[in-house]
Amino acid sequence: MTDKKFIDDLEKNIKSTIRDYHLLSKTDNIVVACSGGKDSIAVLYLLKKFGYDVSALILDLEIGNWSKKNLDNSYAFCDEHDIKLHRICAKDELGFSIEHLMSCVKAKKAVENCTVCGVIKRWLINKKARELGAGKLVTGHNLDDEAQTVFMNILKGNPLLSAGMGPKSGVGAQDMFVQRVKPLYFCTDAELKRYTVIMGFRILYAKCPLSGTVFRRDIKNCLDNFEKDYPDVKRNIVRKYLEMKPALARAQEDKEKGKIKRCSVCGEPARGDICKACEMIGLV
Ligand code: SF4
Ligand code: ZN
Repeated sequence: MTDKKFIDDLEKNIKSTIRDYHLLSKTDNIVVACSGGKDSIAVLYLLKKFGYDVSALILDLEIGNWSKKNLDNSYAFCDEHDIKLHRICAKDELGFSIEHLMSCVKAKKAVENCTVCGVIKRWLINKKARELGAGKLVTGHNLDDEAQTVFMNILKGNPLLSAGMGPKSGVGAQDMFVQRVKPLYFCTDAELKRYTVIMGFRILYAKCPLSGTVFRRDIKNCLDNFEKDYPDVKRNIVRKYLEMKPALARAQEDKEKGKIKRCSVCGEPARGDICKACEMIGLV
């Protein structure tokens, strides 16, 4: 397929995802959670190109040179494309580095770096996006991410964990969360890599040096291998999941009725008295 046809098809795919799932409107104040990686840069570029009112929000985790390069690339990109970039620094918000938090939590609990980091990222980005008055928070999640998570949750024996996923995430407690949307939902990792290479965006493709989620990595390898022999396996997982999502969401809502409240420490949504982020911070 020529590069031109490939780009046209990918852009059509994203436009129809936005339209079919009512993800965004031209009057929304849209904040894109930007990591500086290929997915967030691609979605930022495309939403701006499609005429949406976008700004970018980067959470600087200060993970050595990797974060520095991603931050530099994000500033350069936003500058070139006239997009406002908001930066929050994890260390300033927490009072200590994310790596320090990871080591304190891991000393007391059997969790992986990405679990700690993921909780803190969601917590800080939700708070900041709300402060910025965001109507929608866009993330760069793609089809591979979604297929991996659905499959992982099944293998963990808890498919209900997927109830709040989908192109528009969230079940219940909607007013406490800025609505998260995923315009790249039906684009594969490989397609997004090809797109960003063709477009010549300055992107660091290297993985985060602290990534160490062994389970997700195994699931990724497993699905990549399946895909070689059974094309469309990832798309099939996601399609089937979307058919089942209404039933999962109902079951989850019943389970959580009255259980989502505000964290007594920070006021963010929590399933218990204290949210997961404050629970982790309390271990430092
Ligand atoms: Fe955080 Fe893991 Fe992502 Fe690195 S790979 S930024 S540790 S969630
Ligand atoms: Zn809290």
